[in-house]
Amino acid sequence: MTEDPKNMTCAEFQAQLPELVGSGDDISAHPHLKSCELCRQLLSELETIAEAARQLFPVTDPPDELWTHIEQAIKIDAEKPEEALEAKSSLDSSPPDLAAEPA
Ligand SMILES: [Zn+2]
Repeated sequence: MTEDPKNMTCAEFQAQLPELVGSGDDISAHPHLKSCELCRQLLSELETIAEAARQLFPVTDPPDELWTHIEQAIKIDAEKPEEALEAKSSLDSSPPDLAAEPA
């Protein structure tokens, strides 16, 4: 049986690795890692890559993403004040119905 994690080969372990990483379990406690230096190194490399990916694509953290959008919007306004002003004034003047509407 190949189901005993202590006796699994590196290939078997590495085939499961993406699943193990994705599950969020503590992979460092895996029996194969305790006996296999090679896979410990592989795992630490994978974790470094995964960490970098999380910083590049913070999909699990919507509030941060929201703040990034807000910051970008503020930056665009600050960098192109004339363009922003122009867009604003054209918005103010284009729908005459809005101005005529009683408050
Ligand atoms: Zn191994």
